[in-house]
Amino acid sequence: LNYQAARFLTSAPTLAQCPADTGAEVAFAGRSNAGKSSAINVLTRQKALARTSKTPGRTQLINFFTLGDDIELRLVDLPGYGYAKVPDSVKLEWQRHLADYLQRRTSLRGLVLLMDVRHPLTEFDQTMLGWADEQEMTVHILLTKADKLKSGAAKNALQQVRSQLREWEDLVSIQLFSALKKQGIEEVHARLDDWLLS
Ligand code: GDP
Repeated sequence: LNYQAARFLTSAPTLAQCPADTGAEVAFAGRSNAGKSSAINVLTRQKALARTSKTPGRTQLINFFTLGDDIELRLVDLPGYGYAKVPDSVKLEWQRHLADYLQRRTSLRGLVLLMDVRHPLTEFDQTMLGWADEQEMTVHILLTKADKLKSGAAKNALQQVRSQLREWEDLVSIQLFSALKKQGIEEVHARLDDWLLS
């Protein structure tokens, strides 16, 4: 698939306001600062695509991108929370919309979950994995900023996360990723192709 052709479609605050639930889409989730925008930008080879999602007012929205003109193939940027500066009531509201989306979106084929390789499996990540598990949704984990560790340490981190998620190995795949070094891009593309073309 031509990921370079990705372009912004629309933003939605709730499941009800999402575009038509037809075709196939893949969603990206991660705690704030996990490297989600950087990853989306290198995966689509566009410098500013995910900036759309960082526009003030859009950070709490579900942002949709189409692959070129084909509205039936979409990448979805889910709101990353973790910025503590919002009241708990707002956080709960985001959580509800996220859960709603993951639980009811029929066209959703898989979830890419991004975690900083140095701090994997945060509470946010566990929550997302729990929801995915309930739906038997397949998840592809990117251990991001792999360049921050020496190669041996990065491999150890990968093995460790793999063993911690062994009980979910049927649903979960994991790889190292670095937007900075453009490491792991082909592997992600192959996973996205699998989901979007099947
Ligand atoms: P988001 O909040 O999940 O969208 O995260 P960003 O993509 O904005 O990245 C958060 C911070 O991590 C920024 O300062 C990025 O420059 C940095 N970052 C993102 N990806 C990488 C990477 O692959 N390597 C390194 N060293 N830093 C990265």
